[in-house]
Amino acid sequence: MSVSTIDIAVKKTTDSRIGQLDPANIQFGKIYSDHMLVAYYEDGEWKQPEIVPFANLSLSPATTFIHYGQAIFEGIKAYKDANGNPLVFRPRDNWKRMNRSAERMALPAVPEELFVEGIRKLVDIDRAWVPTSEETSLYIRPFMFAIDEFIGVRPAEKFMFMIITSPAGPYYSKPVSIYVQDEYVRAFPGGIGFTKAAGNYGMSMYPTMKIKEMGYDQILWTDGFEHKYVQEIGTMNVFFVLGDKVVTPDLKEGTILAGVTRDSVITLLREKGITVEERPIAIDELAEAYRNGQLKEAFGTGTAASIAPIRALTYHDETMELPEMETWDVANWLKKELADIRYGRKADTHGWVLHV
Ligand SMILES: *Cc1c(COP(=O)(O)O)cnc(C)c1O
Repeated sequence: MSVSTIDIAVKKTTDSRIGQLDPANIQFGKIYSDHMLVAYYEDGEWKQPEIVPFANLSLSPATTFIHYGQAIFEGIKAYKDANGNPLVFRPRDNWKRMNRSAERMALPAVPEELFVEGIRKLVDIDRAWVPTSEETSLYIRPFMFAIDEFIGVRPAEKFMFMIITSPAGPYYSKPVSIYVQDEYVRAFPGGIGFTKAAGNYGMSMYPTMKIKEMGYDQILWTDGFEHKYVQEIGTMNVFFVLGDKVVTPDLKEGTILAGVTRDSVITLLREKGITVEERPIAIDELAEAYRNGQLKEAFGTGTAASIAPIRALTYHDETMELPEMETWDVANWLKKELADIRYGRKADTHGWVLHV
């Protein structure tokens, strides 16, 4: 089946809620577009997917994912170009990643055409929901979860794959203050750090709440053995500019989520001739670079924020203050470059953009 031939049944709403969307004041996650995609997996195969009006689900209280957490998701954005046509950024990469998460969590693989054509068709039908003003987008949330009605413990056999979308306003990336976490752990080799499993988010709520009470915005997670090597900030990948090089933790251990933004950033920097090293980064190396004046920039990357600048990093009782963001060459260039590709202002030389 090619992407264009998958049969998706469509039942359109007769009662659009688009009038409830105030384009000048979009509150992310408060309002969802008119339609959603639903596909069931049963008896070892995917049933015909449907696009239907956005509605509540009705599930048995014994539904397995509620108890045992076999649930994964993805996050993608659609942007409107100057002619008002939606573009989706790198959906195939999210599809591949969803299937890596699915395998580790014992969920079935989602066919490419279900994922990519599902997104394309859903965005096409709800194209009025993709906002047009600067820095706005339509956030696309594909997700899958186990729906056996059975509270015994075993890998499930029935699943639901869904896609919902929600308009997102301009993301105000106020530089964040980071606490280097060396008590709680996000991920360790052999675990699920590389997946977008619901549980990775569930476990992060309490440590994040704690550091927010202390006045910090996000956690810089460190490895589970020595609390020495940095992993990610909050739910973003992390980059540091050390002298004229850019460094980011490598993916070898399986503790880090392979961000699509991370990959885009590495690709764009290398094309520009900037050295990017993917390798273990010890917190002590960052502290030393800071003392030598070599820690020039630090930022998180992810679909939601694109590039999130870091203002300060606190490790034990030392706080490393980064220079004013206006002076940052790398992060500011990346932010603009990514936006130009996403909004179709710059030629898509990598085949990253899906036109709807
Ligand atoms: C989603 C996510 C990211 C960012 O991935 P993108 O594909 O760039 O949005 C980074 N880290 C974690 C833990 C994530 O869940």
